[in-house]
Amino acid sequence: MNFFIDVILPLSLPKTFTYRVSADEHLFLQKGMRVAVPFGKNKIYTALIVELHNNEPSLYEAKFIDQILDDRPIVNEFQIKHWFWISTYYMCSIGDVYRGALPSALLLESETIISQQKENFVNEAELSDDEFLIFEALQHQSSLKIQNIVDILNKKTVLPVIHKLLNKGIITLQEEIHEVYKPKLTRYIKLHSQYNEEANLIALLNNFNKKAAKQKDVILHYFQLQSREKKPIAAKQLAESANVSSTIIKALIEKQVFEEYYIQVDRINFDQNKKDKKLVLSAAQQNAYLEIVNSFTSKEVCLLHGVTSSGKTEIYTQLIENELEKGKQVLYLLPEIALTTQLVSRLTQYFGNKVAVFHSKYSYNERVEVWQQVLQNSEKAQVVIGARSSLFLPYSNLGLIIVDEEHEQTFKQHDPAPRYHARDAAIVLAQYHMAKVLLGSATPSIETYFNASIGKFALVSLKERYGNVALPEIELVDLKESYFKKKMKGHFSTILIDNITEAFSNGEQVILFQNRRGFSPVLECMTCGHVPQCPQCDVSLTYHKYKNQLRCHYCGYSMAKPSNCHACSSVDLETKGFGTEQIELELTALFPNKNIKRMDQDTTRGKYSFEKIIDGFKNREIDVLVGTQMLAKGLDFDNVSLVGIMNADNMLYHPDFRAFERSYQMMTQVSGRAGRSDKRGKVIIQTYNPLHNIIQQVTHNDYEGMYTEQLYERKIYFYPPFFRLIKLTLKHRDFDKLKEGSLWLYQVLQQNSNHPVLGPEEPVVSRIRNEYIRTIMIKIPAETNLAQTKKTIQKILNSFDLVSQYRSIKVSVTVDYY
Ligand code: ADP
Ligand code: ZN
Ligand code: ZN
Repeated sequence: MNFFIDVILPLSLPKTFTYRVSADEHLFLQKGMRVAVPFGKNKIYTALIVELHNNEPSLYEAKFIDQILDDRPIVNEFQIKHWFWISTYYMCSIGDVYRGALPSALLLESETIISQQKENFVNEAELSDDEFLIFEALQHQSSLKIQNIVDILNKKTVLPVIHKLLNKGIITLQEEIHEVYKPKLTRYIKLHSQYNEEANLIALLNNFNKKAAKQKDVILHYFQLQSREKKPIAAKQLAESANVSSTIIKALIEKQVFEEYYIQVDRINFDQNKKDKKLVLSAAQQNAYLEIVNSFTSKEVCLLHGVTSSGKTEIYTQLIENELEKGKQVLYLLPEIALTTQLVSRLTQYFGNKVAVFHSKYSYNERVEVWQQVLQNSEKAQVVIGARSSLFLPYSNLGLIIVDEEHEQTFKQHDPAPRYHARDAAIVLAQYHMAKVLLGSATPSIETYFNASIGKFALVSLKERYGNVALPEIELVDLKESYFKKKMKGHFSTILIDNITEAFSNGEQVILFQNRRGFSPVLECMTCGHVPQCPQCDVSLTYHKYKNQLRCHYCGYSMAKPSNCHACSSVDLETKGFGTEQIELELTALFPNKNIKRMDQDTTRGKYSFEKIIDGFKNREIDVLVGTQMLAKGLDFDNVSLVGIMNADNMLYHPDFRAFERSYQMMTQVSGRAGRSDKRGKVIIQTYNPLHNIIQQVTHNDYEGMYTEQLYERKIYFYPPFFRLIKLTLKHRDFDKLKEGSLWLYQVLQQNSNHPVLGPEEPVVSRIRNEYIRTIMIKIPAETNLAQTKKTIQKILNSFDLVSQYRSIKVSVTVDYY
């Protein structure tokens, strides 16, 4: 008898492939194990077994496998089933899903680049001959490809040796840079508790003799700072303000006049964080919690619609505890890695080391570690917190999936395939595990709220903030009027400036939101109107003042800021529009003594730069945070009394059917950062359109009004949830070929469907990195058989690929285009 296995290859190929194995191997192998297999010319890949059988393939000669890489499965059947669902639903190849799902360290392929892990000491005597050869080669060459290693060792099966070297910590995969976050430890000073009694304090001050006049001076400075800043005082700040060296402060600590303390956020050992705290829910939280539990007896998915700061996290915590008691795993999906630090420190207080974190900024061995822990259902990974890719971990026993901030668009993966939506894919995964799903948001997406309103999902509302703090008061500033009446300084209305001043005088912090980074979007010639464009993309370059550069936000191209116009040589160049950098600069001029920080893509590139800004703000070292939509995501600060939205209009007029929905969500979420814990906050929205429905709905916290209106628009213009969207994106360097090809595809699609096909359209940015772009949108009525329609589309795409002159046009498919 012949023995075969079907495997997934980590390539964009639509099928699985069959390989031949021996009878013994067949007995040993199981689904979910990896094998190294030859494919194409001289290439070896890490493939995954999905089937074992005895049926010889009829179309090709099955090759033998090269090597077995595992002695037990590293992927389980829940995952394989889920991957095939993703591949079918999102119209991508199973190889794309496999490649996206497995940490790259488990997925060596011919193109992987290997280099030496320099920090580790290598005992050469302990290396096998093959291992030594590779190690030696790396002494002469900084990196090797798998093919180089095949040549060096003169054999085909090199992956096992590479795995061994990886496990020994001798080599690394190049794309990974391992960095450990050292939380910033700031030393703060306060007066020793014995001086809370005024009599003691007076005695102390009177007792300082002439020699210790400096010390007395420091104490007086301490009081000045305290009354001015109304926030914790750092040792360094006191030393600077009193103009003394740190030894004097040290002396005062030794004399027990001052006490020192530290504020720290630690993420490495979560157990230290465990506080054995008992969670006490408010009455409103307790009600919501019971409603959720109750809804799970009849529904699989529940939406928790809770206003910002209503304490949704505490409700999640209680639900997680229930699952852990039942011995179930919990997955907690977050829209943004940046939010994990805050969440981890909150959850580990209750669950200690049972919490694991998984995301793409983790190094390869951290990721493989979490993978293994989840696979073994280990104690250490009962609660997994992660961004969308943590959906792919080898869960065997899920009880609950929480999707926090479910409306966030970052749950949708855009490039590369699989272009899945983590919320929707989570609901499918939960079904396989018979687990429940909780979606949480203060501003649910229209789709989710629709599903809740037709009874597909349960709906639980939480309308009050924790501690019954009122939602922030929102004041609108009419920009047209303010400019007309000259009540503006730069981009700041006097009302906003007054409110910022007042917040400062109360020792409170401020957040300013501007949905655009850089200094100003464009540089325009006042003589001929020329605006410098990216040479590779169809967009204007953005002016970044700090580096005195023009930069492309699509491809990263940059050039020094020109001093005269490239078209007419005029020197009369002006900047138009404004971004975060300019707000930061204007603010510094208005409040020169305040510590102002900017948070956007430009200031948060490093692995932990985000955390550093957040820590600094939380510790009140930063007075104002100026930022883009990064600020809108679930951050919890307890001393922010004012939020300013610099310009609401550029969000509203984005050319996208979700622009209004998104504007509402963004403004409501940013506003929600104001006035947490015990005081009502204030929000100032500067806009040219104070009467715009969305602005009014934000002002009155009218989610239902927004929903009803948007739903109506969706219905009449054929958008989700009434229609499903499939977007095809075509790209090619040759403009005419792309134009012809996209027209051909459009016509065939049009002829073969009885629902709207739109396009081919040139998107707003119609060329990126020298490739022209056209899009075709297919709108499928919700009641249509979706699977069948996708099959038809796939057939048409296959035939498009067979037309020889169009074969070089790249087509990507986005199902549920968001
Ligand atoms: P949301 O996620 O709904 O915006 P959070 O869960 O961040 O709200 O809660 C807002 C604030 O209220 C947090 O600082 C949180 O610690 C506090 N809080 C909420 N519920 C409780 C509770 N039951 N006990 C103590 N503090 C709570
Ligand atoms: Zn560009
Ligand atoms: Zn010009």
